Amino acid sequence: MTGAVHSERERTGPLRIDCHTVVVGSGAAGMVVATELAEAGTDVVVLEEGPFVRPDEYARWRPSESLRHVWRDGSLTVAFGLGGSPSVNVMMGRAVGGSSLLTGGVCFRIPESVLAHWSRELGLSGYAPHGMEPVFEHVERRLSVEEVPASMRSRSTVLFAEGAARIGLPMHPMRRNTVGCRGCGRCNFGCPHAAKTSVDVSYLPAALAHGVRVHSHCRVERVDFEGTRVRGVRGRLLNGPCGRPGDLLVVRAARVVLAAGAWCTPGILYRSGLGRRGGALGRYMTLHPAFRVFGLFDEPVRGWQGALQSAYSDGLEHEGITLTSLFVPPGIVAAALPGIGPAHARHVPDVERVAVFGGLIHDDPVGRLYHPFGRGPIATYRMSARDRARVPLLLDTMARAFFAAGARKVFLPVLGLPGVDADAFGRLELHRIPARRWECASQHPLGSAQMGTSPTHAVVDPDGKVWDVEGLYVACGSVMPTSLGVNPQLGIMAVATRIAWRMLGRL
Ligand SMILES: Cc1cc2nc3c(=O)[nH]c(=O)nc-3n(C[C@H](O)[C@H](O)[C@H](O)COP(=O)(O)OP(=O)(O)OC[C@H]3O[C@@H](n4cnc5c(N)ncnc54)[C@H](O)[C@@H]3O)c2cc1C
Ligand code: SF4
Repeated sequence: MTGAVHSERERTGPLRIDCHTVVVGSGAAGMVVATELAEAGTDVVVLEEGPFVRPDEYARWRPSESLRHVWRDGSLTVAFGLGGSPSVNVMMGRAVGGSSLLTGGVCFRIPESVLAHWSRELGLSGYAPHGMEPVFEHVERRLSVEEVPASMRSRSTVLFAEGAARIGLPMHPMRRNTVGCRGCGRCNFGCPHAAKTSVDVSYLPAALAHGVRVHSHCRVERVDFEGTRVRGVRGRLLNGPCGRPGDLLVVRAARVVLAAGAWCTPGILYRSGLGRRGGALGRYMTLHPAFRVFGLFDEPVRGWQGALQSAYSDGLEHEGITLTSLFVPPGIVAAALPGIGPAHARHVPDVERVAVFGGLIHDDPVGRLYHPFGRGPIATYRMSARDRARVPLLLDTMARAFFAAGARKVFLPVLGLPGVDADAFGRLELHRIPARRWECASQHPLGSAQMGTSPTHAVVDPDGKVWDVEGLYVACGSVMPTSLGVNPQLGIMAVATRIAWRMLGRL
């Protein structure tokens, strides 16, 4: 039996489906689970809230069109900062392929130190480094993870690496899920050449070949269960005016796997009256708060030419900081330059002389999701004192690397602060800048329905099974028991693979 992707945008009337396993969410984790189960002979249906877009379609879009069509809330989702913390702009995908469509392709395994903590101190013995090794190898093979050659580095990354070498910061080549990358720097808006093996390119064809039926424009609202046994899910088709909720969606299934991502999975459980027993649902979310620094050079940089993310530094790993190369679209670089109107226009030609580097923090679990009246989520983030103390170090290191490479000025992610030259930077007291002035973003929400060894502190068991409900699983970024300190897609896919293999009795 061959599967297919069905768009329910134009359907009239309710949709009722029967299957063995329904997977909610078609992102990095959902597509992995669906494929692994289908390849073992399970009848699988995948429900996805967003649209299905083929690479040749997103190749034609401008970045602003991509934001509108396949980013959640047009990329304007916010976790509100509490207690003087910065508010965090949280970005996610909303499409068949989920956030996987939008990645820079960066693939890190979950660091051994993190897995050792999970297995030794949190009691998650199945996640010990040696046990996860074959799982990582399996996912890396499916994704064709490869090292980015130095020849594909953008000038932006080359300049930062030169500065990093001068201040004694080690740099390493990045590993990415790509085949035949052309270095066009558009990864965050969907790879126009299908060179990035996002799950719509890597897993989806195998899933369809094994009979998986994917339905787009299907928003799941809650899980149906009878007694302690799951019966399926229900929600709405997004077939109303302007894509608003319309007709009823009912899927009857013996097994339900929630893989709607760390932002959305807790809401489905919450509306179903499930997962609240230990008070962990929606709590302990981590974000990997991230900051980028721009360096303005005298020479043309044109950082958009080259692999988007090609190198990283673990030189501050002991401080819980990872630095990674990146580039942002010229329009966004321009928006960060000073001035308004004609004064701003004078700076716009500088865009091609700007280099960019970014850093993220291996953060404490201080995010929280609320679902007032079953709606939401509304998110808050109260950055810990330890993480706040790390930010000035992160900014200082990136700025020093840029100056060491010859930057004329740096632009720090601080609201209201213009670009500073080396002298002005030397006078800045970074640790005195109030945290709420930091411009902070996240592409990595994790851990809002954590796994653990007891229902008193975790929402799911180590195999992703929701406590006390037969046949209900969670397998996405929400089950992570801590932040990872590195980009998480490969880690999430490995954990999802392990959960699928456990369902199949393979481990
Ligand atoms: C711009 C950007 C760049 C990134 N770059 C990298 C990178 O280079 N390397 C890396 O490791 N990580 C990167 N990430 C992070 C990575 O993509 C995510 O961590 C990963 O995809 C999360 O997997 P997931 O399955 O938990 O959720 P997602 O991949 O987000 O999938 C969840 C899916 O569920 C759907 N959904 C939600 N609610 C419902 C509902 N009620 N009903 C039906 N469907 C629903 C969503 O629409 C979405 O498609 C990036 C993320 C972004 C946004
Ligand atoms: S840089 Fe490579 S992976 Fe990224 S969009 Fe271009 S071809 Fe695709």
